[in-house]
Amino acid sequence: MLEDTLREGFAAMGLASDERALARFRDYYEALEETGKIMNLTAIHGEDAVARLHFLDSCAPLTRFDLSGRRVIDVGTGAGFPGLPLKLLCPDVELTLLDSLNKRLDFLRGLCARWELDGVECVHGRAEEPGARREQFDFALSRAVARLGLLCELCLPYVRVGGTFLALKGPGAAEELDEARRAVSLLGGGDAEILDYALPGEDADHKLVVVRKLRPTPPRYPRKFAIMKKCPL
Ligand code: SAM
Repeated sequence: MLEDTLREGFAAMGLASDERALARFRDYYEALEETGKIMNLTAIHGEDAVARLHFLDSCAPLTRFDLSGRRVIDVGTGAGFPGLPLKLLCPDVELTLLDSLNKRLDFLRGLCARWELDGVECVHGRAEEPGARREQFDFALSRAVARLGLLCELCLPYVRVGGTFLALKGPGAAEELDEARRAVSLLGGGDAEILDYALPGEDADHKLVVVRKLRPTPPRYPRKFAIMKKCPL
């Protein structure tokens, strides 16, 4: 059952969960399955897989970083990952969920309204157009949106100097980071590190790429998406 997988999983990860959070994860799961019949939300189905690969995985940054009271943006959130599970477990995160597909944000807006969550904004827009949100966040997070070099150009502009960009990645993280080192530096990032994490009941290698922001991102970045793709930094 979803609740058992989550209860045991959070405990194994050293994270506290309460009944209210578990009830909301149940509701989230049902909504993913139900709305997923009419909208493409996730390729992962079933209580155990969704609990582990979406909910527990999304909360992995909490095992290493205290996000309480922090301004956090989830870039390319899709059906809410990793931002919304983090918010359910750590309700005083100030969360922005950003995606270019408004249908998915409508799904997320519906859930946040139903749960009466404070401190969440759902923003429809392109990540490469940060506007007034530039350098406003303590943390930018992202999962399954792009390779690391391109992802840095999408995410680092949102992070304030002294803040952190976290990318949830798979076993290829080290290779992606080697490829992205120049981009990290040009965009104001400092040394990057890779933290391993495991999900309960899983053999797969999960990696958290951590990039601290040391300097403001030069105003010429981010570039237009087509240019980023054609000419990676
Ligand atoms: N992060 C979620 C996850 O881990 O399940 C969703 C991953 S999904 C494969 C990628 C999401 O990023 C999609 O919802 C897509 O609309 C969004 N996306 C891709 N490029 C984007 C951009 N330039 N600006 C905003 N959203 C973008």
